[in-house]
Amino acid sequence: MAESDQIVDERSLQEVVRFTSELIRIDTTNRGGGDGREREAAEYAAERLAEAGAEPVILEKAPGRSNVVARIAGDDSSADALLVHGHLDVVPAAAADWSVDPFSGEVRDGIVWGRGALDMKGMDAMILAAVRSWARAGVRPRRDVVVAFTADEEASAEYGSGFLADHHGELFEGCTEGVSEAGGYSFHGGDGLRIYPIGAGERGTAWLNLTARGRAGHGSKANPHNAVTILAEAVARIGRHRWPVRLVPTVRAALTGLAAVYGVEADLDDADFDVDALLARLGPAAQLVESTLRNSANPTVFEAGYKVNVIPEHAAAQVDGRMLPGWEEEFIATMNELTGPEVDWEFQHREVALSAPVDSPTFAAAREAVLKFDPEGHVVPYCMSGGTDAKQFSRLGVVGYGFSPLKVPPEFGYGRLAHGVDERVPVEGLHFGVSVLDEFLRRA
Ligand SMILES: [Zn+2]
Repeated sequence: MAESDQIVDERSLQEVVRFTSELIRIDTTNRGGGDGREREAAEYAAERLAEAGAEPVILEKAPGRSNVVARIAGDDSSADALLVHGHLDVVPAAAADWSVDPFSGEVRDGIVWGRGALDMKGMDAMILAAVRSWARAGVRPRRDVVVAFTADEEASAEYGSGFLADHHGELFEGCTEGVSEAGGYSFHGGDGLRIYPIGAGERGTAWLNLTARGRAGHGSKANPHNAVTILAEAVARIGRHRWPVRLVPTVRAALTGLAAVYGVEADLDDADFDVDALLARLGPAAQLVESTLRNSANPTVFEAGYKVNVIPEHAAAQVDGRMLPGWEEEFIATMNELTGPEVDWEFQHREVALSAPVDSPTFAAAREAVLKFDPEGHVVPYCMSGGTDAKQFSRLGVVGYGFSPLKVPPEFGYGRLAHGVDERVPVEGLHFGVSVLDEFLRRA
């Protein structure tokens, strides 16, 4: 590709670092239950977009819970639009555990430090820097690009993407596909292998409340209807259950792609195919698929009783369940079976599972953009074990991909740092990211 084709310039590289740092300095901690505030960060993003000639709107479901949306016109107004979204909120940070102030945005020795550096103010900054580079160069993306910065992703999305999808769908008109967090970063697979997993699906969320009702009574008396015992048995059955392997299309594609990267023969359609044997040969990359081979249900909360010699009438528990796309019915039937006749269960929170095609032009454009800037990288699709704002935007018919490109050194520890202590991002990684993102957004 010719040098003159490059839109991201020296100023873009400076801006992506400065914007990451300045966004980190705006504390947008989301404590859940409606306790959060994104307005200052939203105004910051809106100003950076307006300076580039865009016309952003700020939308709030409640005061301070701000979202920003802007549409950048593409060359081909008849083409489907592309959504790129990033959340503005961050999870809490306990400053005492950190080696820097988590809201300092300090840039030291080529690293930007602070809560949100990875998740996901760095990506927010890349989006802003890319859009501004287009304005300076006088270029347009191929198709309309709708930019959205959201509130409340780290809780229920009620004030963020959920609100936008339910009340401002018109702003996303024509958007058929979207990209956002949790994919496109360099995963180090050992032996110098750099793998870029691109998200092409998400398991659905199934947070459950379980209750057992028994017969209350004296702790010294025989009682076959002890609610604690009944519920404990159900919880143990759930926690010990070995869910069957269900290879959904995205996970099949991930396994096939990873097998090729590692030079391992794998015939997923062979009756003797053994997924555990394959995982054992994928080294660290097994992490990219091991949580999405099956549905899952982990008991997380158990509440019962109030005194040692009193058998309580009720016992309650909570379970964090995750459902593969297409296997929600199996999840429900299995929970009915595992809980048994004396325990009731219900969804306290349910979110849809997603699946995106891996043979689409958009996936191919993401792959090409990565390989342009890292020709020795390997791009594979993967399914996320949890969820993102893509679930809410799917209600508008937007097919979501996890693509927030970043290149980090092998020792960096991406997975440990997001939501962790001393979250940080290398300046070089942001430079790579904005270059890849620009390339992708203009061409996809
Ligand atoms: Zn995030």
